[in-house]
Amino acid sequence: MKSGALTPHCLLSSEAVCYCPPRMAKLHFWGAVGTVTGSKYLLEAGGSRLLVDCGLFQGLKELRLRNWDDLPVNPASINWVALTHAHIDHSGYLPRLVRSGFLGPIYATSGTADLLEILLPDSARLQEEDADYANRKGFSKHQPALPLYTEQDARAALKHVQSVGYGKRLPLGTHLSIEFASAGHILGSGFVTAEFQDDGGRPVKVLFSGDIGRYNEPILNDPSPVEEADYLLVESTYGDREHDHHNPKDRLAEIINSTVSRGGKVIIPAFAVGRTQLLVYYLRELEEEGRIPVLPVAVDTPMGTSATRLYLKHKEDHDPDMQRFDESHVNALSTRHFSLVHGREGSKALDAARGPSVIISASGMATGGRILHHLAHYLPDAASTVVFVGYQAVGTRGRRLLDGEKFVKIHGEMIEVRAAIERVDSLSAHADSTEIMRWLSGFKRPPRTTFVVHGEPRSAQALHDRIASTLGWPVVIPVRGQVVDLG
Ligand SMILES: [Zn+2]
Repeated sequence: MKSGALTPHCLLSSEAVCYCPPRMAKLHFWGAVGTVTGSKYLLEAGGSRLLVDCGLFQGLKELRLRNWDDLPVNPASINWVALTHAHIDHSGYLPRLVRSGFLGPIYATSGTADLLEILLPDSARLQEEDADYANRKGFSKHQPALPLYTEQDARAALKHVQSVGYGKRLPLGTHLSIEFASAGHILGSGFVTAEFQDDGGRPVKVLFSGDIGRYNEPILNDPSPVEEADYLLVESTYGDREHDHHNPKDRLAEIINSTVSRGGKVIIPAFAVGRTQLLVYYLRELEEEGRIPVLPVAVDTPMGTSATRLYLKHKEDHDPDMQRFDESHVNALSTRHFSLVHGREGSKALDAARGPSVIISASGMATGGRILHHLAHYLPDAASTVVFVGYQAVGTRGRRLLDGEKFVKIHGEMIEVRAAIERVDSLSAHADSTEIMRWLSGFKRPPRTTFVVHGEPRSAQALHDRIASTLGWPVVIPVRGQVVDLG
């Protein structure tokens, strides 16, 4: 095989070891290949190791079990971690990494660093609850069942986090540097460009897209244009789909007005970070435009409350509209009759209050959290409406309600569904296929190789084909465990 060439063997092998002659730089695909969770990519360059993203595998048991596998290298041998954003499928393995011996800094933008303070301890509590549950039910192989990590491990990992501003090149050792550019997906999300020098001293850029956000959405900046990279890893969550591009405000106004005319409440299960803030922004606009009446609006999720404060704090992430609110000291993430609910008593008081109102609560798929007691209260009420605004995975209560089931079990009780069940599809935080192509069209030269990652096989293949046919770029879909020589 010729020196410097990307060999077909490297690109197509599913073996853990690449048989290329040793070179200066290698890229290892450990997670979010063939699936959308467990993002982890190791870049070896100049004798050092940079792990980009350190996510948990989530969803099906077969995927979750991968979190218990040892990493292919000793965690103590990894020098640095860089995170594209705080979502658990990109950050949730950090406590385990640190517990297994990783000693270095974890670099993230300021917004990501703050969100990790909320998300990692929460993830640890879920791990601990799962282990407790397994012990009580006696279905664990291990006696006793242990959590993947504890809240203490999460706190230990947080001590390694160091924040870095967007657009600031950070040298790591002598041969490598990283830089973040805003990705517009959630607060603090960034594209990470790692740059190293090849054996001829030429700069080589590897760009990790993380999750790509939406264009023309309020609050956060659009995905930053990127002009070049030698190697590109691009996400493909919606590689085979287009979002509904109707204005979500029209649908929300329609649903709210018809519920108000029946005298009911609007209950919205929503993801606490990102979608909750976007919903409140739209509700404020609809009120100001006189398209809905001024109603009590409550955000009833402790994480949503904390996240809303962080969204207001991190002005570096704000788009021009949001900046205008900042300058005029108007809170854009609030309505006229707005509350961030504290404590369980405040939460219960919402259900006792009479008259129409809007309650936004988590979890987004109605699998747990405070949304459950609101659902138990209002699902039997034909005047009320439950509105789903995010993806509802198979097997969740959210999915069963959307599928039209007439009874759902909540806290052990069968609850009759008489409320209207609605969905608003256009509120996804991920770019769709056309939006990903729009971002790629900013490149002034094609990357030497584009790796399509972070997608189910069908989505990844669809994006692969679209890039190959529309842009004519060299593009591959890597497999888990693959190692590619970057020459
Ligand atoms: Zn994400």
